[in-house]
Amino acid sequence: MNAAPTSTWHNWARTESASPARATSPADTAAVVREVLAARERGGTVKMVGSGHSFTGIAVASDGQLRPDGLSGILAVDREAMTVTAGAGTPLHELNARLAGLGLSLHNMGDIDAQTIAGATSTGTHGTGGVLASLAAQIAGLELVTGTGEVLRASADEHPEVFAAARVGLGALGVLTSITFHVEPLFALEAHERPMTWDDALSSYDELVAEHHHVDMYWFPHTDRMMTKTNDRLADLDSAEPLHRWRGWLDDELLSNTVFGALTTVATRAPRTTPLINRVSARALSERRYSDIAHHVFTTPRNVRFKEMEYAVPREVGLDVLREVRRELDASDWLVSFPVEIRTAPADDITLSTASGRDSLYLAFHVPVAADHRAYFAGIEAVLAAADGRPHWGKMHTRDAADLARVYPRWDEFQQLRDRLDPDRVFTNSYLERVLG
Ligand SMILES: Cc1cc2nc3c(=O)[nH]c(=O)nc-3n(C[C@H](O)[C@H](O)[C@H](O)COP(=O)(O)OP(=O)(O)OC[C@H]3O[C@@H](n4cnc5c(N)ncnc54)[C@H](O)[C@@H]3O)c2cc1C
Repeated sequence: MNAAPTSTWHNWARTESASPARATSPADTAAVVREVLAARERGGTVKMVGSGHSFTGIAVASDGQLRPDGLSGILAVDREAMTVTAGAGTPLHELNARLAGLGLSLHNMGDIDAQTIAGATSTGTHGTGGVLASLAAQIAGLELVTGTGEVLRASADEHPEVFAAARVGLGALGVLTSITFHVEPLFALEAHERPMTWDDALSSYDELVAEHHHVDMYWFPHTDRMMTKTNDRLADLDSAEPLHRWRGWLDDELLSNTVFGALTTVATRAPRTTPLINRVSARALSERRYSDIAHHVFTTPRNVRFKEMEYAVPREVGLDVLREVRRELDASDWLVSFPVEIRTAPADDITLSTASGRDSLYLAFHVPVAADHRAYFAGIEAVLAAADGRPHWGKMHTRDAADLARVYPRWDEFQQLRDRLDPDRVFTNSYLERVLG
């Protein structure tokens, strides 16, 4: 095991920090067991961090911090079962690159690939559409060190009650040491991005979701403009037509990140310019099509730092909730420079997944890191909570265990398992005390 210096840790958005009493980088399961038992013996806590991309304090480790880099890389490939096992600390971009080299791919991805596989799955990180939207729903098996130092392997057949919950375990049930994903033969996606009006986007939403594999929409507050991105599978990899390198750089790096970053800075310093800036930003986005191997199309660089809140609401009322969000925003004096992102997920069978047991519509709200998010997020959160919304575990929200128990029918099942796997609360921190009790 490598001892790492205990410097101050910050999350990506710099909304959370920690100065752990000790930090280590375990290189195998036995080293994780030793760290868990040591924490238990001293009456302390221990927590593995991912890449720090959660906006909440879910990864804050003030006593023992385990760093993920020693548990990285592909461990096994089973072409018959079409599964791949990787170390829990493997970054998604590394997993994707290694899978592509093997002619394999995940089914679906979120917007970025900087997270570790354990960090991303533990908070329910998701993309949009497909048969499985979240990374956790693509898990076939996992290995976990519990709070008593026991090593458990879980899958649909082995410890199924652990498998049900630990795929989105919030870091509360144990330290994941490896994860096995279902994989598919490598495929290409064609992206079609096009501007639409609010009315056209909402009236065609159900049809778009039915017709396309993945639908992602962005509404520009204070305007009538939506940007719609649909991704569909191509019949063969060779027909993919990636964006020319400079066009990709111009659109994604320069226009989407650099110019957008500058505009949000202007909007933060001079908030009254926000509606005008949003109209300009929305109009500047033009229609484009491109195709590439799947993970290049699912993900885009996010260089402008922001704070985010995202909720899953039941799919059948989702568009009405979005309309209510717009009414609330239009009636307020909030000046919002970031688009609202709209995605869908089919129901899954994971105990505390935000899509557990129900088809869901995800609504995500962002502000620049330097902006005060409180009034905006609180106003919108009230609308989302009233619609039985479930907050993303890794994104900002103000809900507590009593609120959350009401929107998760399998709440008690998770709590009982937590009592069994972590009786001394070796894995707890302030965030988990708030959301789980
Ligand atoms: C720019 C940006 C874009 C994003 N895009 C999306 C998106 O498209 N969709 C989406 O749903 N979310 C998105 N997110 C949220 C992000 O995916 C989640 O917050 C995710 O949890 C971050 O992963 P991480 O590796 O950084 O984990 P961290 O934030 O470091 O940790 C998250 C949790 O995982 C736990 N954990 C980490 N490793 C282990 C382990 N080995 N065993 C047990 N628990 C562990 C930590 O203790 C903590 O509880 C985005 C975030 C950012 C900043």
